[in-house]
Amino acid sequence: MSRPLFAAVDPHALLHNYRLARRLGGASRLWAVVKAHGYGHGLLRVAQALRDEADGFALLELAEARLLRQAGFTQPILLLEGFFAAGDIAQLAELQLCTAIHRSDQIAMLAAAEVARPIPIFLKLNTGMNRLGFRPTEAGAALDALRALPQVASVSLMTHFADADCGRGIADQLALFQSVRQIQTQRLGQNLGYSLANSAALLRFADQVTGPDAWCRPGIMLYGASPFPDQRSAADLGLLPAMTLRSEIIGVQTIAPGERVGYGGTFTADRPMRVGVVACGYADGYPRHAGTGTPILVHEQLSRTLGRVSMDMLAVDLTDCAGAGVGTPVTLWGEGLPADDVATAAGTIAYELFCALAPRVRVA
Ligand SMILES: *Cc1c(COP(=O)(O)O)cnc(C)c1O
Repeated sequence: MSRPLFAAVDPHALLHNYRLARRLGGASRLWAVVKAHGYGHGLLRVAQALRDEADGFALLELAEARLLRQAGFTQPILLLEGFFAAGDIAQLAELQLCTAIHRSDQIAMLAAAEVARPIPIFLKLNTGMNRLGFRPTEAGAALDALRALPQVASVSLMTHFADADCGRGIADQLALFQSVRQIQTQRLGQNLGYSLANSAALLRFADQVTGPDAWCRPGIMLYGASPFPDQRSAADLGLLPAMTLRSEIIGVQTIAPGERVGYGGTFTADRPMRVGVVACGYADGYPRHAGTGTPILVHEQLSRTLGRVSMDMLAVDLTDCAGAGVGTPVTLWGEGLPADDVATAAGTIAYELFCALAPRVRVA
């Protein structure tokens, strides 16, 4: 028998969450964001679950886009960071991808490229995140430069919100974006397609970021975690966990008061205790920063981790888990235990837990 750790991915949960995004999106189309191997869930596994319903897929790597095409996916695919070198452009056309353009030298590369067919462009504007994109004042010139190229099929506008999940919200960035879109729409005499919303914006501000010309970009919500777990849980939002990380207890220690557990002995028993050792550690992607008290399910009973997470193992408190022993199933996160709760205990977000899932973990 192989090591008992595995990540179960539920295609029905993915579809359920996608449909929730679809309802919020109204007339918008949706890019299912499947970067980082579908947030650790497996690119093809996720794409397969959404095959018949996703309007498109958004990711970063040409190689991943190629995998989708080879697997028969015919939907639009968007490269969120655009292309990285002039040599990529021919493949972009060959694979019929859409691409973000966020830098003027990408326009120059495009102008110099030979392509089999014109490429749909999402012109990325920096409206305040100060990560990728053109300044609003540069938008008109970039639009004109792109629209003049025979290599370009269409140009839509795109931006990304820095604070859709937090206090500041989207108002300032949205106002800036809409002013650019309005000016350019009037100047060109035609509606420009656009793309704004990540999960947080779609969940909080659907009426402001959706519409018939919009493409939304839900990511984390498809996987059933909340983009703002301290305000609304995934369950409150109606999302279902797509990944359940399961393992088993592979060892049990009975310890006396004063005995310590794990590296550094950071946990000391204050009473007689039973400690279960779980086959899952930081080399599997479980966060090492999760200290004593991180929630964990023993069979279906909520318990807590004890001491430091090791590379391949972690310890769980079995003292009040009657009947638990070697072979008892454990849920690290997923069904019955929101990944958001584990992430919070580890000082991080569910995004990081999912994406950090190690290649050595079987996905089933
Ligand atoms: C990752 C990403 C998204 C998805 O964000 P979530 O918070 O996971 O919904 C949307 N847009 C861009 C540009 C991204 O990089």
